[in-house]
Amino acid sequence: MIEAVSIPHIVPLEQILPDEPLLMMGAGPVPIPQRVAAANSIVINHLGETMNKVIGQVQEMGRYVFQTNSPYVMGVSGPGSAAMEMAVANLVHEGDRVLCICNGYFSRRMAEMVGRVRGEPVLLEAGSNESASVEQVEAALRNGRFDAITMVQGETSNTVCNRSLDRIARLAKEHGCLVIVDAVCTLSTMPLEMDNWQIDAVITGGQKGLSSIPGVSLLAFSEHAWQKKIAKRTALPFHWCLDAQLADKFWNQKSYHYTAPVSGILALHEALRLVCSESLPQRFRRHLQCSEALQAGIEAMGLELLVPKQHRLNSVVGIVTPEQVSADAVRAHMSRVHKVEISGAFGLNILRIGQMGEQSRAHNLFRTLHALGSSMQSAGARLDLPAGMAELERALSHAA
Ligand SMILES: *Cc1c(COP(=O)(O)O)cnc(C)c1O
Repeated sequence: MIEAVSIPHIVPLEQILPDEPLLMMGAGPVPIPQRVAAANSIVINHLGETMNKVIGQVQEMGRYVFQTNSPYVMGVSGPGSAAMEMAVANLVHEGDRVLCICNGYFSRRMAEMVGRVRGEPVLLEAGSNESASVEQVEAALRNGRFDAITMVQGETSNTVCNRSLDRIARLAKEHGCLVIVDAVCTLSTMPLEMDNWQIDAVITGGQKGLSSIPGVSLLAFSEHAWQKKIAKRTALPFHWCLDAQLADKFWNQKSYHYTAPVSGILALHEALRLVCSESLPQRFRRHLQCSEALQAGIEAMGLELLVPKQHRLNSVVGIVTPEQVSADAVRAHMSRVHKVEISGAFGLNILRIGQMGEQSRAHNLFRTLHALGSSMQSAGARLDLPAGMAELERALSHAA
């Protein structure tokens, strides 16, 4: 006889969560606006008039943010990686050869997904801490036959930006490839023009540039990709939940696929509405000015940025941890004393500060830069904190 499982001893959330929420300045999730939080607390029916209006507007706003006229803008219940998997699982068929341009951790994840759906990934490694170059991709496309390419716009893991994304996408198109782009961290923080650059799938998550909640993501398929790979497919994709034809029933045909994450979609609606009311050009400007001011402040303090300017991502800033300083000690001190959280990195001795959505606000920059400098000093670094703060102030007022 097996004993019944007894009631566990559980401490309430208020004893687990910090008294004062930490300011989330890492590589995501990022702080969410009050309206997004409020929308996230509502549950409505996942089918019916109200929901139809909501998803119609989410798609319309999605088309603006992705800069596409495609009808195939869809949400997915799951992390950015689920959107990535949905793009790959529907556009890469068994035996397809895919050129996977790799800059780091997340671009390699796409290559792994290609393999799992029985595609054939061919990895093209960009230089260490460098953007992929057009010449390098052109050589690879000339030397092999490929059905698709995958690439990341901003590689969050090591803060590299693929600056030539537009040229590489058009080039891949000329070679007859579908173009799959991960814009999880960058969407709405810097320009991306899906139709104009001839991209076939753009993937994003909620908790980064869009400043929504984690767990509900958005992606778009081009009309071309839909007709070529989804409408005319001869085999079913492996994943039922991620089947784009089934998802289309919900997103375009007002019927049931699975119960949509209604609260998260309402949150995403509000996050997108805030993007629209700010407008993309203004939002790009805000992100650029804030990130560049932060970078200037970090350097003026005497710290070094990981990636040279021409390859550098602005949406997440990577800082080299000085020798003899522990990145973990700096982060722990920032959380405990300053209530600011930033990220370490997967295996690299760097610290990363996000500049996505609500993170790119002047008041958050001052608090974060001060917390960083002061915690670095307490971890043994020698640097000029006042010079960094003064430079941040100068850069921000100069931009304004
Ligand atoms: C965060 C991130 C992902 C993964 O998103 P999850 O929501 O953690 O699955 C993928 N790509 C990039 C570029 C990211 O920044």
